[in-house]
Amino acid sequence: MQKILNYVNGQLMPPNKGMYLENYNPAEGKVYSLLPNSDESDVALAVQAGQTAFVEWSAMPLAKRAAILQKIADLIDRDADKLALAESIDQGKPLKLAKAVDIPRASANMRFYATASMHVSSESHLMEGEAINYTTRTPIGVAGCISPWNLPLYLFTWKIAPALAAGCTVVAKPSELTPMTAFLFSELCIEAGLPAGVLNIVHGLGSKVGQAIVEHPAVAAISFTGGTLTGKTIAATAAPMFKKLSLELGGKNPNIIFADCDFEGVISTSIQSSFSNQGEICLCGSRILVERSLYDRFVATFVSRAKALLVGNPLEEQTQLGALVSEGHLKKVMSYIDLAKQEGGKVECGGVQVKLAGRCADGYFVSPTVITGLDQQCRTNQEEIFGPVVTIMPFDTEEEAIAFANATAYGLSATIWTENLKRAHRVAHQLKSGIIWINCWLLRDLRTPFGGMKQSGVGREGGWEAMKFFTEAKNVCVKI
Ligand code: NDP
Repeated sequence: MQKILNYVNGQLMPPNKGMYLENYNPAEGKVYSLLPNSDESDVALAVQAGQTAFVEWSAMPLAKRAAILQKIADLIDRDADKLALAESIDQGKPLKLAKAVDIPRASANMRFYATASMHVSSESHLMEGEAINYTTRTPIGVAGCISPWNLPLYLFTWKIAPALAAGCTVVAKPSELTPMTAFLFSELCIEAGLPAGVLNIVHGLGSKVGQAIVEHPAVAAISFTGGTLTGKTIAATAAPMFKKLSLELGGKNPNIIFADCDFEGVISTSIQSSFSNQGEICLCGSRILVERSLYDRFVATFVSRAKALLVGNPLEEQTQLGALVSEGHLKKVMSYIDLAKQEGGKVECGGVQVKLAGRCADGYFVSPTVITGLDQQCRTNQEEIFGPVVTIMPFDTEEEAIAFANATAYGLSATIWTENLKRAHRVAHQLKSGIIWINCWLLRDLRTPFGGMKQSGVGREGGWEAMKFFTEAKNVCVKI
């Protein structure tokens, strides 16, 4: 059986203690490879390598650093089909989606930050006749990057690309559920000539490897994407050491639909924003709020379109929803569907595990599920499910829509559908979410700030925000 290896100090190596974890193919419900069950001794080696490499990497001319990152992007493009297949097998997502979104974005992330590093300019502030201030930004040192399982290589590169471009070295941990493409990525880094120790990838459990990265005194900054509870643990660990923290956490995003919307646009995009990647995207709109005059028509059309979605073998071209990432996650999603029923919800479609024939007979498949009849405060509408499950609720006024939309502890993203642009802006300004889409969803410009309010996170990624996160400002004041 294939053994995934750690990538430490430029070498692919087994974990110190020789222990491994089983890695499942979620579409088959079977173990298909092993990954290192690393511990703090592996993390210590990786941090040491990062500290040593920092001296050369942070001083390397920008153009040379950028060229290496560009080369990694070229190699991702060259191996796009292989990486997409690996991502689909490891995560359960449709191969078609991995080819169209995950892998192209991974390469785009590397390219975007490789070039961004060439365009950073420093600030200066003149105090007329008195002094001039200039501000330098220097890389913070060894950064810890911890990423989740839903968009494995996409989010892994979204963190490490700005860190490396800013001149930091990195100790990274992918989710133990989806380690494969990060492993393949480490092979590409070696081929691209990334100097030893600049990027180190330590595989294993969050509670061991992730925790050890966060606790290590020589790791100066932590960039984490994952669940809100894990984010709390990380913040509590890192705060007494005054580490810089960027936390991209969960969401319970509202999709607000006014009666004057472009109806066909709303339906087709809402199907995507509800069920893409089996609903395992932090930006999915899991609470659909519809103006009452449109409610019945919306529910009828949306439900019939959701019923028509094909849940199937992720490797087949026509499949629209693949497998959930793990058996544990499948149980969690199913438990929320049970909870919704107990809370008085009506399951309009789905709500069941899908049993496929043949190779995927033991896979973790759930049908797209639409629930109505719940109030805003129930647990189903307050807690993140992170699966192919959405609720639909009516509202009567703009004020009520805004109040419902803001009525959770989360504040990651929101979508607004209306042809009335004044109203769109008005509502957008009152929503307590870090990312708002008007008449679209998941349209991403990598230069824009990305992140959530309230319990959806701390800090912003994307564009200069990420470059600033991985650097420290120093102001120098010179008397004239
Ligand atoms: P988790 O919080 O369980 O895990 C995220 C990562 O953190 C994994 O690599 C995990 O390792 C690791 N980890 C777990 N415990 C610790 C710890 N104590 N110290 C350090 N690292 C630790 O999230 P999931 O992987 O389940 O991802 C789903 C969540 O991610 C959802 O809540 C989703 O909303 C959120 N998310 C947010 C996004 C955003 O941009 N805001 C984007 C995508 C997802 P291991 O897997 O081994 O446990």
